[in-house]
Amino acid sequence: MTNPFQLLGISDDVVNAVKDLGFENPTPIQEQSIPVLLEGTNDFVGLAQTGTGKTAAFGLPLLELIDFKSNKPQALILCPTRELCLQIANDLKNFSKNVANAHVVAVYGGANIMQQLREIRQGVQIVVATPGRMLDIIGRKAIDFSGVKYVVLDEADEMLNMGFQDDINDILSTTPDDKKTWLFSATMPAEVRRIAKKYMNEPVELTMGTKNTGNVNIEHEYYIVRARDKYAALKRIVDFNPEIFAVVFCKTKLDTQDVAEHLIKDGYNADALHGDLSQQQRDKVMQRFRERNMQLLIATDVAARGIDVNNVTHVINYSLPDEIESYTHRSGRTGRAGKTGISICIINSKEVGKIRQLERIIGKQFTKAELPTGFDVCEKQLFSLVHKVHNVEVNTEQIDQYIPRIMDEFAELSKEEVIKRFASLEFNRFLDYYSKAPDLNAAVAEDRNERDRVRGNNRGSEGYTRLFINLGSVDEFTRGDMLSFICNNAKIGGKSVGKIDLKGVYSFFEVEDDVAEKVFEGFKAVEFKGRNVRIEKSGDGGRDGSDGRPRRDGGERRSGGFGGERRSGGGGRSYGGDRRSSGGGERREGGNSGGGFRDFSGRKREDRGGSTGGSGRREGGSREGGGERRKKW
Ligand code: AMP
Repeated sequence: MTNPFQLLGISDDVVNAVKDLGFENPTPIQEQSIPVLLEGTNDFVGLAQTGTGKTAAFGLPLLELIDFKSNKPQALILCPTRELCLQIANDLKNFSKNVANAHVVAVYGGANIMQQLREIRQGVQIVVATPGRMLDIIGRKAIDFSGVKYVVLDEADEMLNMGFQDDINDILSTTPDDKKTWLFSATMPAEVRRIAKKYMNEPVELTMGTKNTGNVNIEHEYYIVRARDKYAALKRIVDFNPEIFAVVFCKTKLDTQDVAEHLIKDGYNADALHGDLSQQQRDKVMQRFRERNMQLLIATDVAARGIDVNNVTHVINYSLPDEIESYTHRSGRTGRAGKTGISICIINSKEVGKIRQLERIIGKQFTKAELPTGFDVCEKQLFSLVHKVHNVEVNTEQIDQYIPRIMDEFAELSKEEVIKRFASLEFNRFLDYYSKAPDLNAAVAEDRNERDRVRGNNRGSEGYTRLFINLGSVDEFTRGDMLSFICNNAKIGGKSVGKIDLKGVYSFFEVEDDVAEKVFEGFKAVEFKGRNVRIEKSGDGGRDGSDGRPRRDGGERRSGGFGGERRSGGGGRSYGGDRRSSGGGERREGGNSGGGFRDFSGRKREDRGGSTGGSGRREGGSREGGGERRKKW
């Protein structure tokens, strides 16, 4: 069978290399852009998030277009950070591993320039560079760009945000006029548009998703808490997601350090990434995170630029970013390579207006979520443990020798007693911490309607009935699974199902009023893993009736008997459009993420943070701060 990359026009050597990387099918951006770029005759603008397979989208066509018999630079790829530069160069080396005489060099600040110069002298066809270091090398007359046919501007919006406009101008002026320019950007602010206009000739434009839109695989949620409860809220979110692998964004270096230190002290596997760390320290932190030896990376916006780690489950905005557009970059750290991800904002009640602004900008609704109660967390942790025990691989060879002694130790205990004790080992830790845990959700006037609806009022959205089901995420349901489960059992179409609000051991979902009876009928005798599935109208029995929360002692609860409240949860999407935008940030005193770079008019500002690359110019993932003209709230 012909390989789909071959069908797009990629040659055997390169196809074999991407096959080795596990690429079976092209991603949507690859499918669309490869045929266009392979022609080699057009300028190109691709609007795409990171994590969509962008590098191969431009990298594979480049490998087809370059003449590898010549050792002169023919392609120049400019990108904003050292991390991204290394990543792209590495990807290109992998893609071209079967191509004879292919040479790719990475040129970036914070590393030995002599080694880079040596590599260039030895002959190279593809140069991947951050702008500052590239300009240094051009200044030393150490590279000849007269044969460049293709220039790729990757993450163009980030490069402009970081103040590289002038550097890019200077670099491009050393390349031939008839080169083709391919620009990739996650967002399309006016500055990028201007760049496209200035450097390109009727570019082919491809948009993956809607302009300025976040990745479709990412769900956006926000939690409203009092400022003093922020840290506790963060912990609760983490505890409620036992498998979390997250980047937590703070506004300042100080906050980053502070949050990381508290988390470490509280026993979490976390570390900080910010511009005050040396390049070596940053590399070490990133390596631990990449290898999943760390669960929570606490980072500033700038330090996290170019972080390219797959399978990040959550992005947590511990503080909202100063610039609206940074939100897209932050959330783009999750939901990569076709995976789903959740971007969470922990905000105070004055910041709801900012959420509304974000919704407008990325064109997606944010779900207002409620922090789980201590009870919910304990339950979630308990069942996570239960699943782990259930799925653990048993090393029979090793353990068998101990079984008789273990059986002896437990001879007095029933199976149930043994299970209880094993479960309690881990569970008691959370129970101790959470038994008296307060409700951290801050009541907000503008959300009262939503809250009322969630709590006692049976009505779902207009025309919908809101139903309770005693299955949730601990049963390993995603929203998609729940939708199929409902549709299959109730024999209704997906269009009849409204919002699904997945909780720990239970969930809520809306169905069109006229199919509600069908749902009750369909679920009359349904079992899930040996348990009866229970459907109730939200606010009916099975819940305590006064506030609409599920009854703690009811039916077939799998645990319980300990204190704590359960909350039915928010998650409404129909809150009224609050257009207030609050100016009040929560920046801590002493923190500094403001940096000094060039603004877009070309004025140079103080340049700080990160490591220098021998010439005093700083760049790479090390910059703290951003261009002045980024859109503020
Ligand atoms: P990028 O957007 O280029 O940073 O790619 C994001 C991730 O997706 C990287 O880990 C790539 O290795 C991976 N990737 C890119 N293209 C494909 C593909 N066609 N199939 C599977 N994985 C891919």
